Amino acid sequence: MSRTNGFIGRRDFLKLGGGAMVALSSSLMQVPNAFAQESLQPISPALALQELVEGNKRFVEDKRRSPHQSLLRLAQIATEQHPFASILSCADSRVPAEMVFDVGLGDLFVVRIAGNVVSPRVMGSLEYSTKILGSQLILILGHERCGAVTAAVDNTIVEGEIGTFVEDIKPAVARVKNIDGDRMDNAVIANVQYQLEVLNKSKLLTQLVSEGNLQLMGGRYDLDTGEVTII
Ligand SMILES: [Zn+2]
Repeated sequence: MSRTNGFIGRRDFLKLGGGAMVALSSSLMQVPNAFAQESLQPISPALALQELVEGNKRFVEDKRRSPHQSLLRLAQIATEQHPFASILSCADSRVPAEMVFDVGLGDLFVVRIAGNVVSPRVMGSLEYSTKILGSQLILILGHERCGAVTAAVDNTIVEGEIGTFVEDIKPAVARVKNIDGDRMDNAVIANVQYQLEVLNKSKLLTQLVSEGNLQLMGGRYDLDTGEVTII
């Protein structure tokens, strides 16, 4: 089992196979925190990105392994979590991060809000997932045909509090108003880039980045293919 970075990688865990997993299970019963103690160190931003890219490739090819989705896995992480990456995605029902990246329980710290906008509470959640839980990658994931972005582009009049997150997208829409191409898709990408800029206002996050312990990235999720493209 590789522990080069102190973290038991998902692939290493999968390689254990059924028999070893039973053995791991029984050892866990004797030492409840054994797994947690071995996974105190997070994986690097580059390795975290690689895990996401490989998982998404399996999703796109319809070869999902659906790892870490058993009650055994839950028992292994019940007292301590060390998600290897943090995702800020839209609350859209077609964007479930664990499925799109073919991971499971304890793997991702996911913040979902319509339009994947960064509010103080979202920023705080991501500060928590990185500074406290040790995640070294934050991916802001926009997606094709986002209703929130569409409302911002069309300047739709909305009821209730719906306008709160639509307003948060409008500065991004203004940037690409006169750009050629698909105006909705341009706005989706511009929104990811804009929200990254908002996130960069966090002193805590920028300090982690300067120390080499965090990378902030943006991505676009294609609803037609399932593919996530890093932007
Ligand atoms: Zn959306």
